[in-house]
Formats: sequence, C-alpha cells, structure tokens
Amino acid sequence: MRQATVYIDSTALQYNLNRVKQLAPNSKIVSMVKANAYGHGVKDCLAALNNTDAFGVATLEEALELRAQGSKHQITLIEGIFNTNEMLAVLEHQLECVVHHQQQIDWLLKYKHQYIQHGLKVWIKLNSGMNRLGFKIDEIIDVIMHLKNEGFHCVLAMHFANADVPDHPMNQQQIQQFLHIKQVCAPIEASCCNSAAIFNWPELHFDYVRPGIMLYGATPFANKSVADLNLKPVMTFTARIIALNHIQAGDSVGYGSLFTAEEAMDIAIVSIGYGDGYPRAYIKQNYVALNGELRRVIGRVSMDMIAIDVTGLNAALDSEIELWGQYRLVDDVAEANGTIGYELLCRLSNRPIRRKIEV
Ligand SMILES: *Cc1c(COP(=O)(O)O)cnc(C)c1O
Repeated sequence: MRQATVYIDSTALQYNLNRVKQLAPNSKIVSMVKANAYGHGVKDCLAALNNTDAFGVATLEEALELRAQGSKHQITLIEGIFNTNEMLAVLEHQLECVVHHQQQIDWLLKYKHQYIQHGLKVWIKLNSGMNRLGFKIDEIIDVIMHLKNEGFHCVLAMHFANADVPDHPMNQQQIQQFLHIKQVCAPIEASCCNSAAIFNWPELHFDYVRPGIMLYGATPFANKSVADLNLKPVMTFTARIIALNHIQAGDSVGYGSLFTAEEAMDIAIVSIGYGDGYPRAYIKQNYVALNGELRRVIGRVSMDMIAIDVTGLNAALDSEIELWGQYRLVDDVAEANGTIGYELLCRLSNRPIRRKIEV
C-alpha cells in the first residue's frame, strides 16, 4: 500500500502549549485551531490542547467541528459571523464573536439578551494599520462605549502586521494605538499577541494571548528556528521508497528533464507529490531526511512521486522518508520553496493517512 503518513505527536503539542504558559503565565490562552489546526487535524489535536483556556477559529463550521468533537471550551470566531443566521448557531453552541463592522454589531444587538445571558464576551477589533479587519482608531471608542452601555463584556483585540519583524516601525504605531484605546476604554480586557508577539513583547500579553504556529512547532520568524525558540515540531510527514534506479552521467530525471546526472548515481523514487501537498515550486535545493540524514530532492516534484539522491547508501525499498518533521524542518522546506511553514502545513491534501502518537 502506498503510505504517505502524517504523524501528530501529542507530547510535542503539549510541550509547545506549556511553552506558551511559561512565556505568558498571567494570560489566558486562545489556541488557534483554524484551518483544521493548521493542517494537523482538530480531531488529533484536541486532547493534547485540553489545558488551553479557549480556542480560536475562522469560521462557524470550524467551531461546530470543535463542539462535535466534544470541546466545551470557550471558542472565539476571529472574523465574527458572516450573516445574521449564524447568530442562532452562535447562541446554541455558545460561541464568542469578533465584531469588525457595524452590521455585525446590529446582528449582535438583535440577540443581545441571550448572548449576554450565556456569559459570552464580544471581541472588538481595532484596525491599527494592517487594514484588513477592524474599526479605525477614530470610530472604535464609540463602538466600545456603545457595547459597554448595552451591557456587553468587551475584549479589545488587534493583530500585528509585522510581529515577525520586531524592529519594524509599524509595530510601534500599532502598539501606541492599541494602548491608547485600551486606556481610554478602561476597564477592558485586551488581546493582541500571536506567536511572534508572544515572544517579542511580554508586556503586551494582557488578558488573552493567541498562539497559532508555535503550538505546532514551526517558527513565525524568518531568522529564528524552532530550536532557538525551544519548540518541538508536532507533525512528521513521511512517505516510502517505491523504486530504486541506478543512472549514468548525462541521464536526466523527471518532468522537464530538469536534473541531469553529472556522474553515475543511485536514486530512489518516493511516493509523495504535490497531490499530497508536497510543494513543487522550489527556488533552492530541497532535501528530505532518510534515517535522520538529509538527502537531495532531484528533478521536478510530480503529482505522486519525487526522486531523491541516495548515492552511497544502501537504500531499501519501503524505507520511510521524512519529508518534514524533526530532521528536515517544515520551515526549511518552506524556505526552499519560497513560502512559509504555515502554508505547507495548511495545504496538505487529505490523501496522506493520519496517525496520532499518543502521550
Ligand atoms: C491566526 C491568528 C493568530 C495566530 O497567529 P500565529 O502567527 O499562527 O501565532 C492570532 N490571532 C489571529 C487574529 C489570527 O488570525
């Protein structure tokens, strides 16, 4: 059987959650599990994340999946609801909403009594310069005062555009705006830290931190590795050798004949490709790990196969190859392909089989 496998290491996930607790001991943790727990599978992550205070998701469907899996945690819909009908599910399943435009406030006010009775908080998003979602600095004070007067428990929230670049001047602008609104609207709960910001600014942890990528053991920074951050990769993505070839100098490999051997070499064909979510768009030499050692990927990545250089090894059929995990970090595969670990993790297809490694 062709076995591309995604292993989820529950111990590593718990370890990373504990790292968040160490770094932000006085804040509640909203574990971000949007996009199916960054591709790791909500189902396989829930138990290890049980000690989180809350979950953050992007869509109602993602929240309902958590409830279906038995989670009783506080859940925040980070983009709020997308139409008024979703309010019924919000109340039925006790979900907390972000509001970032006036219409969402109107929907909320319509169901005000039930929402408040359930003890649900409303998260009010400040647009402090990222210009994606949120109320601008000159409108948000009225919004917050209004919601407070209506009896809502409010959380002021914002998101950094450049938390991965701590010295970026935009960060200070966003921080100043956030602190200003927090002060004017005091007392109010506050939340602005994603993974990178949790590392950068302990003084901004406030009531809730919102770790995503760090939980999964990938780095939010271009210039700091998971080892630097003391995090452990949660996902190991593997496939097996399905063929071995000996080729001669001048022989080429794969589509477009992009790779040509300069001398005789042994290559192994591994049953993984972009149909599984393994990236094709390399810009730098990419590697996989075999028995913990890095081996070159050669030629084009096909839909179902890649070729690797196994010259000098006694590579055997059915050997398990690590595409990313402990030895070949997803962050490094991403860099070789001009993207970030987040994207590779999220866009795995559902073809690989999934295995949870229990605590
Ligand atoms: C995804 C997300 C996070 C987590 O970001 P990471 O960089 O993965 O830590 C935090 N807050 C919001 C609003 C998000 O959308």
